Amino acid sequence: MNRKTDIVVVGSGIAGMTAALTAAQSGKKVTLLTHGVGSLAISSGSIDVLGYVNGKAVADPFAAMADLPENHPYRLVGEADVRASLDWLKELCGKAGMAMQAGEGNQQLVTVMGTLKPSWLTPLSFHAEAIEDVLRVAVVSVEDMKDVHPGLIIDQLQRYPALAKKEFVKAILPNPIQQAHRNVTPLDIARFVERPEGLQWLKDSLAPYAKLYPVLLLPPILGMKHSQKIWEQLCSALNVKIVEMVSIPPGVAGLRLREVMKKALNEAGVYLVENTEVVRSEVEQGACKALTTVATGGENRWEADSFIIATGGLLGGGIGTAPGKAWETIFGLPLDMPENTEEWSSPSIFGDSLFARMGVKVNEALKPVDAEGSVILNNVRFAGRILGGYDFATEKSGHGVALATGWHAGTLAGKE
Ligand SMILES: Cc1cc2nc3c(=O)[nH]c(=O)nc-3n(C[C@H](O)[C@H](O)[C@H](O)COP(=O)(O)OP(=O)(O)OC[C@H]3O[C@@H](n4cnc5c(N)ncnc54)[C@H](O)[C@@H]3O)c2cc1C
Repeated sequence: MNRKTDIVVVGSGIAGMTAALTAAQSGKKVTLLTHGVGSLAISSGSIDVLGYVNGKAVADPFAAMADLPENHPYRLVGEADVRASLDWLKELCGKAGMAMQAGEGNQQLVTVMGTLKPSWLTPLSFHAEAIEDVLRVAVVSVEDMKDVHPGLIIDQLQRYPALAKKEFVKAILPNPIQQAHRNVTPLDIARFVERPEGLQWLKDSLAPYAKLYPVLLLPPILGMKHSQKIWEQLCSALNVKIVEMVSIPPGVAGLRLREVMKKALNEAGVYLVENTEVVRSEVEQGACKALTTVATGGENRWEADSFIIATGGLLGGGIGTAPGKAWETIFGLPLDMPENTEEWSSPSIFGDSLFARMGVKVNEALKPVDAEGSVILNNVRFAGRILGGYDFATEKSGHGVALATGWHAGTLAGKE
């Protein structure tokens, strides 16, 4: 089958969904082709903009952007577009009843590993500054809950000088879904709390602790679609401040944000094709004519005026590797990496590794360029982790770069 649209976006991580939405909001007909769900679904759902530069913690990400290398995606799209993309997401989430808020500078979120993680734009229930003003905090988990151990969390948190003198207490709630016959995850409980009997269970179980402790630290279990409402209701009914902690995958809050964005795609009229993989591209005279996908029903050909590729990195499927070489998977663009694969990674586990920054080289319009800076594909833009020149893990800039570059690519394509 052959289909024609204005813009084809590939990948439904945060970069692809943002690009598709912004292009559709400019009045374009947009098709979004995607194989899997992207790493938003396994993340905290908080938007890290920039936590560290050259290994040093950053208080204000925007002030620190000038210290990034010139080819860093933030330097290419510019501070104004980074801010605009954050405002855009804030508005989208606010309208969907899941308010996201930034603080004065980077916020420190509490993780279920008992660490503090810098992030910028986060759902209200993750704002942890309430802990600063109180002495007594209950760290809550649920019986049989995998990966959330209050003892470990407390031990780790007390290593931070600012928290060392706090009086933390462990609180283990009874497991309300015994029939699972396995360890429960925060996602299981969040889905249960979305139901009226689940919300009642949580309220009753937290009530004794709320009488003694002004702040309760919880795994992300405050529902899925109605998390903000549930958080507000519980805080008000129990007269307590509840703070959700960042959990390891499955990322409950990432799934909440993904749902908000998927609903917006539907409302904006984006044609979303899931479980389909782009396997071929047709390029003529420096422009992409069409992409071919394969799904259970066979092959489809997708023509468009322009294309936005947001296929992620090694994890997402956007980058392929073999000993001594790496490439972008849709157009087969070679990535500039040393032939000696040993040089790809730093001997130190937290060192500066080349493989973490490998990706497509682009210009300010996010179009791919060769070593001399000449555009290789004039109707194709790249966004998100597929871009080279940054290391989201050590910088703590993952969703921030994906959002800003997806917004930039979608907005520019929408104006053409
Ligand atoms: C476990 C984990 C937790 C994280 N937590 C956070 C966090 O809390 N905050 C934060 O800011 N950052 C976080 N990050 C980083 C952040 O998730 C990523 O940097 C960012 O989301 C990348 O988004 P993306 O859209 O560019 O790529 P991805 O999310 O990887 O999406 C790529 C998409 O492209 C699709 N795709 C790939 N190839 C094809 C193809 N050929 N055909 C069709 N579709 C294709 C994939 O299926 C997928 O849908 C985390 C990362 C991980 C791994």
